[in-house]
Amino acid sequence: MKAAVLKLIWKLLGRKKLAINRETCIVCGKCYKLCHHNAIEKSGNGTYVIQSDKCMRCYHCKEKCPKQAIE
Ligand code: SF4
Ligand code: SF4
Repeated sequence: MKAAVLKLIWKLLGRKKLAINRETCIVCGKCYKLCHHNAIEKSGNGTYVIQSDKCMRCYHCKEKCPKQAIE
């Protein structure tokens, strides 16, 4: 319930869903380690993927990514 309310607030504030750009991502894992909502998972080929249903749009990963690969 709390998650749904937070998502609604972010949506109203214009915070969009995030995705990792595989062209610029260097697979350092920083975003994976810092996400408190376990919204970033490692895929079978070793890259990271944001699960939009779990993502709270806090943007911490986007702000800390060293390659600005989260858009
Ligand atoms: S922090 Fe950025 S460069 Fe590192 S794995 Fe995540 S998206 Fe890729
Ligand atoms: S925006 Fe926040 S909740 Fe979503 S993947 Fe990034 S750190 Fe996790």
